[in-house]
Amino acid sequence: MKNYQVAVVGSGPSGASAAFHLAKAGIKTVILEKEILPRYKVCGGGFVYRGRKNMPFDVSEVVDIEFNKIDVYMGDDLHFVTERENPIVSLVMRDTFDQLIVNKAKELGVEIIEDCKVKSLNKVDGLVEIETTQGLIKTQFVIAADGVYSQVAKMAGWKEDTRTLIPALEYEIEVNQADFERLSKEIRFDIDAIPAGYGWCFPKKNHLSIGVGAILKDDKKIKEYCADYIKFLGIEEILSIEKHGYQIPVTPRLDGFVKENVFLIGDAAGFADPLTAEGISNAILSGKLVAEAIAQAKGDEEKAAKIYTDIIEDTLMPELLTSMKLAKVFYGSKIVRKFLLKNYGQHFSEAMTDIFMGERTYPKDINKKIKEKLKGLVF
Ligand SMILES: Cc1cc2nc3c(=O)[nH]c(=O)nc-3n(C[C@H](O)[C@H](O)[C@H](O)COP(=O)(O)OP(=O)(O)OC[C@H]3O[C@@H](n4cnc5c(N)ncnc54)[C@H](O)[C@@H]3O)c2cc1C
Repeated sequence: MKNYQVAVVGSGPSGASAAFHLAKAGIKTVILEKEILPRYKVCGGGFVYRGRKNMPFDVSEVVDIEFNKIDVYMGDDLHFVTERENPIVSLVMRDTFDQLIVNKAKELGVEIIEDCKVKSLNKVDGLVEIETTQGLIKTQFVIAADGVYSQVAKMAGWKEDTRTLIPALEYEIEVNQADFERLSKEIRFDIDAIPAGYGWCFPKKNHLSIGVGAILKDDKKIKEYCADYIKFLGIEEILSIEKHGYQIPVTPRLDGFVKENVFLIGDAAGFADPLTAEGISNAILSGKLVAEAIAQAKGDEEKAAKIYTDIIEDTLMPELLTSMKLAKVFYGSKIVRKFLLKNYGQHFSEAMTDIFMGERTYPKDINKKIKEKLKGLVF
């Protein structure tokens, strides 16, 4: 049986980031990953600047294209453009992007065990024994970074009924030269490309990543909507298409983030932004925060749990709760959405771009802000 101080389950951006920071603090860490790396991850691969600027190393080598400008459309009549000096969104393929973070963690001494699925957790003599497809692992702390369907969270006793998962489709499409040239000039979001959601078209090096997300709830017609969106983009010829679907958690868990030395981060905790479904930056941030909490607590389990819980409650939770309220208002009614975008679309796009850039956060007291907005538009 192998022993570690921390076992991180999952090698996505949250897990790899946690492992990187733990190793940097001199903590003996292993990553357990069920796939063989590098692995494909269903994702648009839009990495916003608030995440990129806080990376502890340069990620340029795995960025396909950077966009300093984004285009938001609603139907044929509304179009808003925002522009910044630094890249608002860096487009990546998740296999190479995630692998870069894993490699950086490995350089610092993290052990990576691939093809290693976690099957069960047991508390034995105050330590956690993890049964995996590659044998038993013993550890003091477990970090569940195993994504939206987190089995580790279930094994550790979290309930599934406190969160909302939404379906999202992402197709990797090769199109003809003319369509690629036309569509690779911009990174576009199409509000209402699907009911209560949006479509996106993200150009990669030599293909397009096109997808749709139904933000408020499961919608069985999502495949039809995606087909309609591809038509709407005016794509004449599809040379190849890979269709993928997955879910995104758009509400954080409400039954805590730590139980019995198991810490939740990233999608396992439900840290994707409810309004935009953007999850990479908070996944990476939560990985850093959990590592700092464990390092600061110097082996004291209760202290580590308290530091992590407090920092999440003080920083990420108020933002996520505000974003949840905004998502309800925004996607809840097409009439309201149209009214808001028609009258304040540019202002709204600028505010969202500032959030993507990490230059502002969602307002904490949203109810007060909405009242102010009704008087004179503040957000
Ligand atoms: C269609 C779609 C488009 C998206 N587009 C964007 C976007 O453009 N920008 C953005 O910021 N976010 C986007 N997201 C959200 C983003 O992909 C997630 O928020 C992000 O991947 C969360 O990272 P994570 O590390 O928490 O989990 P993941 O990246 O899901 O990593 C979890 C890892 O755990 C492993 N694992 C799972 N179970 C086990 C087990 N039992 N044992 C061992 N290993 C296990 C998995 O193999 C995986 O490698 C999108 C999501 C979807 C579905």
